[in-house]
Amino acid sequence: TSIKDWTRSDAYHNSFLIPQDPVLDAALKNSAENGLPEIAVSTAQGKFLHLHARSIQAKRILEVGTLGGYSTIWLGRALPEDGELITLEINDKHAKIAEENLSNAGLSSKCKVIVGPGHDSMVSLPSDKKFDLIFIDADKPSNLKYFTEAKRLVRKGGIIIVDNVVRFGRVADPQESDHNIEGVRLLLNGLKGDMDVDATTIATVGEKGYDGFIYAVRN
Ligand code: SAM
Repeated sequence: TSIKDWTRSDAYHNSFLIPQDPVLDAALKNSAENGLPEIAVSTAQGKFLHLHARSIQAKRILEVGTLGGYSTIWLGRALPEDGELITLEINDKHAKIAEENLSNAGLSSKCKVIVGPGHDSMVSLPSDKKFDLIFIDADKPSNLKYFTEAKRLVRKGGIIIVDNVVRFGRVADPQESDHNIEGVRLLLNGLKGDMDVDATTIATVGEKGYDGFIYAVRN
C-alpha cells in the first residue's frame, strides 16, 4: 500500500469524522504561501491531539515546535475559557506566521508564541505552574533534552507526547542513521528504566506516511 492509498484512507475517514474547517485550511494556506515546510501534523493527528487534550481536561498546554501553528490551533481549541497554551519556536518567520494564524483562529489571547531556542525557553519556564500536556515536535536531535525539561514542567499524571519517533521503521533499522533517527534513539535509551514516566510508542500510518509517537505519563 502506497502513501497515495494512505492519503486516500485518511481523506475517507476524515470525510465522516472531521468537517471542513476554513480556519485550519487558511492556516495551512498561509503557511504554504509563505514558504513554510509542509511538516505539520496531519488532520487526523491534529484532531487526536485536540480530543486528547479535551479528554484530560487540559488547562495548560506546552508545545515545542510551532511551525505555522496548525497543531497549536487544534490544541488551543481544546482549552477552556481560562486555559493557556505556550508554544516554542526558534524561527522568527514561523512564529510570525503562527501568530497570524492563531489570531485568525481567535486564539491569540489563549496561545502565546515564545521565540527562541526551545530548550532555553523551557529552562526559563517556572516549574510551579505545571502543564497538563506537553507536545514535543521540534528538532529531533534535541528530543531527550526537551523530554528531560518536560518531565520537570508536567504535572504528576500529566502527558508528554513526542512526535515522529518511528520514521518509516528506520529508527529500528540498524542499517539506518541520521540526526533525526539518532535523536529518537537517544530518547529511547533515556526512557529505558526511567522511573519518572511510563511510556509507549504508537506507530501510525496516514497521509504523512508511516510514523508514530511516544505517549508518556508522568509518575
Ligand atoms: N507542531 C507543528 C505542527 O504540527 O503544526 C510542526 C512543527 S515542525 C515539525 C518543527 C518546528 O520546530 C519548526 O517550525 C522548526 O523551526 C522548529 N524548531 C527547530 N529547531 C528548534 C529549536 N531548537 N527550538 C524551537 N523550535 C525549533
